[in-house]
Amino acid sequence: MDSCDVLVVGLGPAGGAAALAAAEAGLRVIALERRNEIGRPVQCAECVPAAMGRLVRRTGCEVQRVDAMQTVLPSGASVDSPFRGIMIDRARLDAGLARSAEEAGARLLLGWRFDALDAGAGRVRCRNAQGAREISYRLLIAADGPFSPVADALGLPSQPVALARQVTVPLLQPLARTEVYLSPDYPGGYGWLFPKGGTANLGVGVAREAGHLLRPRLHDLHRRLAGEERVGGGILARTGGGIPVGGLRPKLVVGNVMLVGDAAGLTHPVTGAGIHPAVTSGEAAGRAAARWLVGDAAALESYGAGMEELFGPSLARALRRRGELRGREGDEGALRRAWVAFPDYYRRHEVQA
Ligand SMILES: Cc1cc2nc3c(=O)[nH]c(=O)nc-3n(C[C@H](O)[C@H](O)[C@H](O)COP(=O)(O)OP(=O)(O)OC[C@H]3O[C@@H](n4cnc5c(N)ncnc54)[C@H](O)[C@@H]3O)c2cc1C
Repeated sequence: MDSCDVLVVGLGPAGGAAALAAAEAGLRVIALERRNEIGRPVQCAECVPAAMGRLVRRTGCEVQRVDAMQTVLPSGASVDSPFRGIMIDRARLDAGLARSAEEAGARLLLGWRFDALDAGAGRVRCRNAQGAREISYRLLIAADGPFSPVADALGLPSQPVALARQVTVPLLQPLARTEVYLSPDYPGGYGWLFPKGGTANLGVGVAREAGHLLRPRLHDLHRRLAGEERVGGGILARTGGGIPVGGLRPKLVVGNVMLVGDAAGLTHPVTGAGIHPAVTSGEAAGRAAARWLVGDAAALESYGAGMEELFGPSLARALRRRGELRGREGDEGALRRAWVAFPDYYRRHEVQA
């Protein structure tokens, strides 16, 4: 049986950051990932805040900068907000992080799927097409995304998710901002056009129960923008996925298991942005692992408390706003109160009956 100090399940940005931090601290790290190629297929609109510049440089994943976010309301009114962001090659980010972790000493097991957990014994079983293997660990980091099989194996409830569908299309006019479309057409979500040099990611997200709308709504949005000669009619790539929208899980630590990134519910329930908190939580969990293993008994709990302190208030507000908007997407005032670009989003207010 393989054994390690820290077993990381999942090599997205959270798992890569966790494996890197733990390996840099000198721990024996194994990271397992069900995909054969890290980061592919990409399931992301690939926009990160400029605050992630250091990691973007380290992994060489920058594609272009954006200096604003334009929010378009159903009336056609639009508002520009000063959002400084970086459009990235997401596969490069994930692979770069994992490679750095490997260089720091982590052992990566690609093409291996977490299958079963014996938390009492500190043992995981994983599988690939050839068979199964067992890995014993002292600490486990669940970085396995929105549908976290590790959380499931711990008996934690599954998280509510929104669903997204995206196409990559030719961009016919250069764009230095992200565009967001709010509309009752996208209940529990929004449409987006994010530029990547000569192409753009064009997508739609909606509440899970409105999943049947994804395909026709994205088709309509694409047709409209192609009609305006802003994007080409062809499709270069398609993707999609689930985005946690339930906010922070009540507990990020269960015994000697830490949850990070999407598995922890750290994704913003209004914008769907989750890369930055995934990396931040992964790094914090990797460092907490190192402290715990040299006898700091409070290290894991302080990881959870730290994430709550850092992200809790903004996630709680986003969750409230998301709830307040439900069923009121036709009301432009309600849309403004529930979107991060508008001052109303940050004000305390009562919901009208
Ligand atoms: C369509 C779409 C667009 C998005 N756009 C943006 C954006 O522009 N900006 C932004 O900040 N966020 C965006 N997000 C959210 C962002 O992608 C996530 O928040 C982020 O990927 C979370 O990172 P993570 O490492 O926690 O999880 P993930 O990136 O989901 O990584 C989890 C990893 O675990 C692996 N895994 C799962 N199960 C197992 C198993 N049983 N065994 C082994 N490995 C397993 C998966 O293969 C995966 O590699 C978007 C999400 C979607 C779906």
